[in-house]
This record gives sequence, C-alpha cells and structure tokens, in this order.
Amino acid sequence: MQTPKLAVTIPCFNEELCIESTCKRLLEVLNLLAAKGKISRDSYLYLVDDGSSDNTWKIIEQLHNSYPERIKALKFIRNYGNQKALVAGLEGVRELGCDCIVSIDADLQQDENSIEDFVDAFTEGNDVVLGVRNDRKDDSFFKKSTAVLFYKLMNLLGAKIPVNHSDYRLVSKRALDVMALYPEKALFLRGFFHEVGLKTKIVKFNVKPRFAGESKFNFMSLMALALNGITSFSVVPLRIIAVLGIIMFFGSILVGLETIFEKVFFNDSPNGYATAIIMLSFFGGLQLFCLGVIGEYVGQVYREVKARPRYVKEKELK
Ligand code: UDP
Ligand code: MG
Repeated sequence: MQTPKLAVTIPCFNEELCIESTCKRLLEVLNLLAAKGKISRDSYLYLVDDGSSDNTWKIIEQLHNSYPERIKALKFIRNYGNQKALVAGLEGVRELGCDCIVSIDADLQQDENSIEDFVDAFTEGNDVVLGVRNDRKDDSFFKKSTAVLFYKLMNLLGAKIPVNHSDYRLVSKRALDVMALYPEKALFLRGFFHEVGLKTKIVKFNVKPRFAGESKFNFMSLMALALNGITSFSVVPLRIIAVLGIIMFFGSILVGLETIFEKVFFNDSPNGYATAIIMLSFFGGLQLFCLGVIGEYVGQVYREVKARPRYVKEKELK
C-alpha cells in the first residue's frame, strides 16, 4: 500500500490561547511520521472554528497563510457545539481528500504522540481506531464521577460506547464513506463508529491537563450531549417505559382485588389514606417522568423531520 495521507481535524471554540501552539505541535508530529515513512508528506490539519467570538479565526487565517498546504480550515456562522464541529471536520476532509483522519481536541489534552499508534493500527487494516484514556487522575471529582455515570448509563440504555472513549479517534476514508450513507442530523459519533461494524481497534492514550484556556463544557452542555446520545441512538428507554406500564397494570389489578376484598369482607374501606396519597404522588411523578422521556424522543423526531442543515459555513480556507 502507498503511504497514507492523514488529515487531523480539530474543533475549536474560543481557543485563541491554544490554537497556535497546538497547530505547530501537530505539524511536528505529522513531519515526524512522514519522516518515518508512515504517512505521506501532504498530510494536513483541518480546523473547524465553531463560531468563536474571540480571535481564534484570525489566528487560524494567519496559520493558513503561513502554511497554506498544511493548514486548512472552516468557520461556522455560529456556535453549533463540538459534535457538529467534529462532523463538519469529517465531511470537510472527505471532500478535500485523505486516506485516514484523526480528530483531536484543540487543547491537546489527548496525547498527540498516540497518533502514531493510531496510524499503525490503520496500516494493520483497521477502519476505526478508538482512543481510550488510561486514567482520569487529573480530572476533578465532579467530572470523574459524572463521566463514569455517563458511560454506565449510556451502555445501560443501549448506546454502546467504550468506557473512557471521548472523540479522539482515527477513522478511514471508508468509514467516512459509510458515515455519508447515514442521513440523520444528530449523529452521535462516539457510538456511531463503535457500532457501525467496521474493523475496530482500541488504543490506550494518556491524558494531560488543559495547557491554556478553560473547558468549554458545562453541566448543561454535558447533559445535552448525553441526552442526544441516548435519544439518537437507542429506544431502550421507551421499552423500559412499556415494561413499567405492564408491571403496573398487573400491580393495579392486585391492589384493586385487595380493595374489593376488604370492602366486601371487612367493610373498612376508609382505611388506606396514607397508601392512597403515596400511590397518587408516586404514580403522578412516574407518569410525568415517562412523559418527559417520550417527549425527548418526540423532540428528536421533530428535529430530524425538519431536516435542517447540520451547520452553515461562513468561510472555508482550502
Ligand atoms: N468545542 C467546540 N464547540 C463547543 C465546545 C467545545 O468545538 O461548543 C471544542 C473545544 O474547542 C475543544 C473540544 O471541543 O477543542 C473539547 O472541548 P474542551 O477541551 O473544552 O472539553 P473538555 O476537555 O473539558 O471536556
Ligand atoms: Mg479539553
């Protein structure tokens, strides 16, 4: 096989403090791999500016002017969130051309030296190489525990994703072609590439603290990511509701029989006030919760049916 052409895509949202040194470091990595003969010399970076409000785009333009062949970029007209920026990166490099593509965060928290392991796994014939972090010792207690909860819950609810795989991965041109066959707007990439059925390998990598700037995720955006991951990926929660309904149906028959029994044989029906209140509030709450879950799915259908574009481009530097 010819030496593969590698593209590295980087979602950037207000990353003015990181982006320049990140690009320089990644170009070094690409040069090193090219020198070892593992990737071709025309491998490149593809930056997606997710509607930053700081100087990120200005810096990207300067970088593109200094390395027009090696740094290409796309700018969204507004912030669409990191998943959309990743999808845009994949679609962008598919158009520009490459044999394999790695996605990595702009803060280089994911060890960029592992790109070599990813490329090796690709050369061995894998179409998807998933990066899985070695440990989370640098994360705050809150992030660590919410992350564990996230993976557990996701897997329980049917969206199978490998534990501690974020969006650091390599996919082949073939995987991009497969992705293009899926017209759904809310693609949840972590689950998608894991489940799609292409030959997959897991590679461990080390995590570093963010070297500049702040995390762009807060509790709400993580919740939105998790909810979208579940509703776009799995109908298990709907099934759980159906099963709950059946269980309660039989439960209510039992309670009904018991009430009639007491009324007929003991005639003490005024008893059971506490039970009535507890059951009333319990079932009221449960019904609202189930309605909420169904509502999330209706919302997902609503968004998909409108078939709005995933994102709108403002500028592109090719
Ligand atoms: N990001 C993005 N759009 C957003 C939020 C984040 O493109 O709305 C990018 C961000 O620039 C970074 C990556 O997604 O390259 C991961 O974000 P961050 O490092 O803030 O997340 P964390 O590592 O704290 O989970
Ligand atoms: Mg980060």
